[in-house]
Amino acid sequence: MLRSLLPALFLPCCPGCLKNHSGNRIFCTPCAARVELLQPPFCPRCGYPYSHGLDCPHCTLEPPPWQCAVSIFPYSGPVASAIRLGKYGNHPWIFSRLGELMAHIAREFSPRYILPVPTARSRWLKRGFNPAAILAREIACRMYNSPVSLLGNHVIRTDDHKPQAAKSKKERSTLPSDTFVLRRTLPAGGPILLVDDVMTTGATLKALSLSLATDVPVFALTLARTL
Ligand SMILES: [Zn+2]
Ligand SMILES: [Zn+2]
Repeated sequence: MLRSLLPALFLPCCPGCLKNHSGNRIFCTPCAARVELLQPPFCPRCGYPYSHGLDCPHCTLEPPPWQCAVSIFPYSGPVASAIRLGKYGNHPWIFSRLGELMAHIAREFSPRYILPVPTARSRWLKRGFNPAAILAREIACRMYNSPVSLLGNHVIRTDDHKPQAAKSKKERSTLPSDTFVLRRTLPAGGPILLVDDVMTTGATLKALSLSLATDVPVFALTLARTL
């Protein structure tokens, strides 16, 4: 674990390529040149690129249990490399850097609470960290004018889930309804922002959102999404 932190402690590194990189920008110049943003127009409910100004067909058929989901980047290029390096190369500091990129978008939701998508206990023990929790913490630290609270222990993930990348398309599109269990009453008050690193089918965010059984608005923000 400590060894994985060394690059962040002693070497200014680019999270996209792990090469030395000095300067204030998160990515090195070659990586930054290849970073793409998801470009509007989007479906207003799920954030999927959709050009008709209405809910996309998927959301029309099955409205998601949140108000609005937004992703910042397509899951490709240096952003995808950074996420993979962070998760599978055991570099949790990468998610601290990437969380900085999410904070200004998170402010637009004016959340009162931020809930990172929980990871299963077995996964946490194996990896030692939850990327979503690191992203959420970085976002919360940067909500300068509207303090938020992290809902770190209110929901647990019960499944010993396979990585999304290892699942079939059908497995990715649905999760058992008891995947997430609310173990503490949610505090009363304002909107809740769900945070995760990657959105694929939206099934994880959907299951988590439903588990909350709350009347307050729920939004979702992910760093990247597959297209
Ligand atoms: Zn780079
Ligand atoms: Zn949609």
